[in-house]
Amino acid sequence: MVTTAGKCHCGELRWEVTTAEAPVHILCHCSACKLIGGSDYTLNLVVPKDNCKITSETQPSVYTYKGDSGNDVQCFYCPKCTSHPWHYQTVNADNYVVRTALLEGAENFPVAAEVYNKEKWAFQPQIAAPESVFATVPPS
Ligand SMILES: [Zn+2]
Ligand SMILES: [Zn+2]
Repeated sequence: MVTTAGKCHCGELRWEVTTAEAPVHILCHCSACKLIGGSDYTLNLVVPKDNCKITSETQPSVYTYKGDSGNDVQCFYCPKCTSHPWHYQTVNADNYVVRTALLEGAENFPVAAEVYNKEKWAFQPQIAAPESVFATVPPS
């Protein structure tokens, strides 16, 4: 198991994520990521909730919105600077969608896949291997 630390922009919110293998990035091109993240895609990894821990005294605030499925999605964010460590999709009850860009060493993680490619902006090149690019999410 690999434990990786993360922190927000102001440094008040800190967390740890434990994964079976070294973390990877899954690029999400969906419209919600663009609006919430203020950029054209986000970097993510699905991690069991129990493996995600807030390690600072400061606790995250929560913003709730409806996902594609119509079910609630909770965005956890630093109450001071708004960086967010992870999202919780209530349809995916046991996991968090961790924002891998905020983890230590993120610049060296490989890109494993791209999802919501149907909403990718045209100026973006394809980054993941062709077999790992999905119009929405991978079939399961
Ligand atoms: Zn912060
Ligand atoms: Zn997204």
